[in-house]
Amino acid sequence: MARYTGSVCRLCRREGLKLFLKGDRCYTDKCAFSRRGYAPGQHGQRRKKVSNYGLQLREKQKAKRIYGLLEGQFRKYYETADRKKGITGENLLVLLETRLDNVIYRLGYGQSRAEARQLVTHGHFLVNGRKVDIPSFKVSVNDNITVSDKSKSSEKFKTFAENPKTLPSWLEGNVENFQAKVLRQPTREDIDVPVNETLIVELYSK
Ligand code: SF4
Repeated sequence: MARYTGSVCRLCRREGLKLFLKGDRCYTDKCAFSRRGYAPGQHGQRRKKVSNYGLQLREKQKAKRIYGLLEGQFRKYYETADRKKGITGENLLVLLETRLDNVIYRLGYGQSRAEARQLVTHGHFLVNGRKVDIPSFKVSVNDNITVSDKSKSSEKFKTFAENPKTLPSWLEGNVENFQAKVLRQPTREDIDVPVNETLIVELYSK
C-alpha cells in the first residue's frame, strides 16, 4: 500500500500545528514546528487570507496526515462514511479510528501511528487468534487483539510493556500481558484528534 515518504515535519508546519507524527521527538526541542512554526517553502512566512475552501481543504489534509493516509484511501473512507446511517463526519472519524494500525497505536505499541503501522505490517499482532498484517483492517466490537508469542519476548515489546499508556474507554487492555479487547465502537467524544470533520464533509459534498 502506498504511503507518504517525505518529511513529516513539513506536514505539521503546513497544517500550523503539531500533529505528533514522530513520537518522542515531538516532545523535545528538536521539534521542527517548535523551531519554525510557519509553513514550509519560500513564501511560508507570508500572511495569507484563507478562503472557506482553503479552511475545508486544510481540515481534510490534517485528518489525512494524522492517520497517515493518501487521498484515494481517505476519499474511500469518506464515501463509506457517507453511505452509513448517522452523521457522516462522525462516521468518518470512527472508521479511521477503528483501523488496526490506529488501535495498535492507541494501545501503546509504537510512539506514532507510523511506527504502529510498521509493527502491524511486520505481523506482530493477532486478531481473535489469527495473524493480521493489514494496517487498514477494521476492528469490531469484542475483537481480541494479542501479540504473537515470538514478538512478546523481543526487546521492543518488553519496552512497550514497561511503559503502558492510558487507554481510551472503548478499549480494554493490558499491555503488560499483551492483550486487548474492543469494548465498543468509539464515539466522537472518544476521538481526541484536533479535526473539524464538518468542514471535511462540506468539502467533499460540493
Ligand atoms: Fe510534527 Fe513531531 Fe516533527 Fe514536531 S517533531 S514537527 S510534532 S512530526
